[in-house]
Amino acid sequence: MQKRHALVTVSLLLLTVWADAQTVKLKYPQTGFVTERLSVSDLETWKTIEGIVFAEDKEGQPLHPTLRNLWQWIETSGHTVFIEFIKFRGISNCTAGLFTIERFDPLGEHHIAVIKLNLTSINLAYVGPETRKPSGFVPFKGLGKQERYAEVLGHELAHAVHILTSLERVGLVEELVQQTNQILLSRYGKRQKAHHTTAAELSRRVAKRDELLRRLEEQAEQMEKVIWEELVKGKRLNSKLSLLADKESGKREFGLAIRQIPKPDQAGKK
Ligand SMILES: [Zn+2]
Repeated sequence: MQKRHALVTVSLLLLTVWADAQTVKLKYPQTGFVTERLSVSDLETWKTIEGIVFAEDKEGQPLHPTLRNLWQWIETSGHTVFIEFIKFRGISNCTAGLFTIERFDPLGEHHIAVIKLNLTSINLAYVGPETRKPSGFVPFKGLGKQERYAEVLGHELAHAVHILTSLERVGLVEELVQQTNQILLSRYGKRQKAHHTTAAELSRRVAKRDELLRRLEEQAEQMEKVIWEELVKGKRLNSKLSLLADKESGKREFGLAIRQIPKPDQAGKK
């Protein structure tokens, strides 16, 4: 009888611990990348991008070390970064990627952020001399579909790491970028009286926001250039090696992380 009592008590205790763990899980999402907002087919695309990030040469050296470092920083940062794919074609949605803060932690221990990739925009992006950046590179030039996704992810990761490594910067992004955007939205939307900001205050805010965005963009673009260079170099090495492999045996596998490239009719299908 006593034994049964003890068993019931232990079961109840375990149940309590499990319930507590569930509550904690609900309150605090897991850290690093969280892909629960992706559909099953999006998840496949995400896995392909991950394959590119971690691709290695035949000596086991990373082909894209910058991208890999940024990825690993996020995974071990203690912050949460949700991944979302958006697929709009509208002119207003021409942005290829976006990084935003969803929950600012004043202690700086666990921010919640989101990276959104607009796959349609990336697929339709024009690549030519007109899109050459001041630093001298043409985004996406020489890259395939999946490598372009990796380049945009790299740009957003550069933002994420640069912002999340400084509590002051996270606060500035929250206050100057996101709150200003909210004020503008509510001002021109239906809830006009939601914010009591005068026109002069708003224009000062917008100027400060744009200056901050300019500085953040400059930093991310420098990183994107390095990532693009690594992707182009990796792609060249990749095709050289597979050409060699084709010549030698046709089926022989080299030490490269083989990426799964979906068939054209499957690519990007929701
Ligand atoms: Zn950017």
